[in-house]
Amino acid sequence: MGTDRTPSVGEHAVLSGEDLAALLRALRELGYTLVGPTLREGAIVYAELTGAEDLPAGWTEVQEAGTYRVERRDDQAVFGYAVGPHSWKQSFFVPRLRLWSARRDGRGFAIESNTDAPPRLALIGARGCDLHAIAMQDRIFLGGARGDADYAARREGVFVVAVNCGQAGGTCFCVSMGTGPRATAGFDLALTELLDGPHRFVAEVGSEIGGTLLARLGVPAATEADRRAADAVAERTARSMGRTLDTRDIKELLYRNHEHPRWDDVAARCLTCANCTLVCPTCFCATVEDTTDLTGDHAERWRTWDSCFTLDHSYIHGGNVRTSPRARYRQWLTHKLASWIDQFGTSGCVGCGRCVTWCPVGIDITREVAAIRATDSAPAAPPGGVHGDA
Ligand code: SF4
Ligand code: SF4
Repeated sequence: MGTDRTPSVGEHAVLSGEDLAALLRALRELGYTLVGPTLREGAIVYAELTGAEDLPAGWTEVQEAGTYRVERRDDQAVFGYAVGPHSWKQSFFVPRLRLWSARRDGRGFAIESNTDAPPRLALIGARGCDLHAIAMQDRIFLGGARGDADYAARREGVFVVAVNCGQAGGTCFCVSMGTGPRATAGFDLALTELLDGPHRFVAEVGSEIGGTLLARLGVPAATEADRRAADAVAERTARSMGRTLDTRDIKELLYRNHEHPRWDDVAARCLTCANCTLVCPTCFCATVEDTTDLTGDHAERWRTWDSCFTLDHSYIHGGNVRTSPRARYRQWLTHKLASWIDQFGTSGCVGCGRCVTWCPVGIDITREVAAIRATDSAPAAPPGGVHGDA
């Protein structure tokens, strides 16, 4: 591969720091709105980028259960961290969406639907775990007989620049979940940042449009040594995972431990604040609210993120199904790791560690499962999931 032909899917090129900046400029020239990691209010968050200068060069994160802070690195790595409090779900399953508005029109109401076309996004720096999370949300919002029109419009034509993680976060366990640290699908380009020798990025082509963009930049093919160095980065990251989760027979384990005393133990610590569900890249609970103005001439219907940790989320026909923190934590963990498998054919957890880091009391999903597994003595229960109170 050289500068005179378009690299194919699976081929690799090398980009310098200037080439990365040129890649982001080229995406903007093609009409994409860039969204990627940037340093804001003491955290690395996903926000609109004007260019490579907005990436958090020279910063990293320190994460533990209930703990997050950013720190200076001793180099100028631009992707030298794992994942922060944001996930890409906010770009497609937006936290607050006006579904329609209505205006009084004589004796009735005229309904006005949302007609604004969303921006065409380029995601910069999506990690392997997050690509799996996006694929899960695609299945939820685009699968079935009727997809979600707003989600579909926002997902349409998205360009993805993935990043193979160069270091694991303190709470990551993507290796256990088979989702990282390398991006394997769902990207147009996947970068591995190399810091030994000249600062550079090995770029794997994941789509025709990704290859076309590299050809436009005229970047050289990766050498065998570059590719080996990129492989070594992913292998080193995999070995340094912060946590592990034993997923053997996890669905059966959780179903048969519906009455395990650990649910009381965790309920005594859980604040039911819902942080874990809001930072989770796969959680998809929502609620709908109607509002009117004081004149009664104008009404709106909004969809907002909700959580299975809120009391009202399980309110159906005159009562709440899950009134206790025990029931709500058990519902969340058991849905994520067991009944999600029945529902969608995969685990609902990608091992990103966000729920562990951002839990204010440091509750750790991997430790809760390990504690149940260590004392798994309950008799087998009939299959069917966990939904009710207790
Ligand atoms: S597990 Fe932690 S983050 Fe989740 S609701 Fe309970 S206290 Fe909040
Ligand atoms: S449950 Fe926790 S670790 Fe798993 S995907 Fe959600 S936030 Fe990440």
